[in-house]
Amino acid sequence: MKLLQDKVALITGGSRGIGAALVARFVEHGAHVAFTYRSSAAEAEKVIAENAVSGITIKAYQSDASNFQAAETLVNQVLEDFGKLDILVNNAGITQDTLLLRMTEEQWDKVIETNLKSVFNLCKQVLKPMMKAKNGAIINMGSIVGVTGNAGQANYAASKAGIIGFTKSLAKEMGTRNIRCNTVAPGFIETDMTDELDEKTREAYLANIPLKRFGKSSEVADVCVFLASDMGAYISGQTISVCGALTT
Ligand code: NAP
Repeated sequence: MKLLQDKVALITGGSRGIGAALVARFVEHGAHVAFTYRSSAAEAEKVIAENAVSGITIKAYQSDASNFQAAETLVNQVLEDFGKLDILVNNAGITQDTLLLRMTEEQWDKVIETNLKSVFNLCKQVLKPMMKAKNGAIINMGSIVGVTGNAGQANYAASKAGIIGFTKSLAKEMGTRNIRCNTVAPGFIETDMTDELDEKTREAYLANIPLKRFGKSSEVADVCVFLASDMGAYISGQTISVCGALTT
């Protein structure tokens, strides 16, 4: 028996990076997967093709996670296509790094709306079907930066710290309905997002990581599989770091 056999998962931002690894791992563990992307239609098609397994449904949806109405349309469509929804992974996220002195209102709003408001948008929509099923697992993608803060990332750190508080609150609200909610907080993971960083910043991170390497997307996805599965049945309201001991 696979860990997520016959479960239906909705994963935001599944076209690249950690989200694409989430799709792969969830399918390996027997889940049917609906995933979203913002604009990378070709990458989304590639993710579907690479993970095609007989008996498993994988569907991609173009949907802006920061848009409340789009989240409602998306969840209704997924419920129509898959019949139920057991797991939500709010993974979609962006950075727009700069020191606060230079940060524009637009850079602040964009990051907060994409990273934090999206979590509100999607959670709002899945609660009713999960309450009806008396079962649900929600995983929100945070970051260790939401715990430690980081110069040049006030918008990003605020969005990720907000996710941690949101997750703890939802876990307390929904515990009696058997809906669990946890934050996964990656450290430095090799993806397009971290490719943007200059060599000096990468070396500075590496020097401070006790495991002496950057993380892989699949290593974050493995923790999400565990939390989404019955193996994590008594874990809710927690922030689980996946960071090679960068923070302890
Ligand atoms: P990535 O490689 O840049 O991929 C981001 C994904 O999110 C893409 O699939 C993208 O879709 C999607 N996306 C962005 N904005 C969206 C929107 N408004 N609506 C729907 N989808 C949207 O990023 P990543 O490194 O895998 O990061 C994934 C998550 O992990 C993020 O929440 C990030 O903050 C978090 N995280 C990453 C690291 C790291 O080291 N990489 C560390 C800590 C936390 P398109 O392909 O269409 O653009």
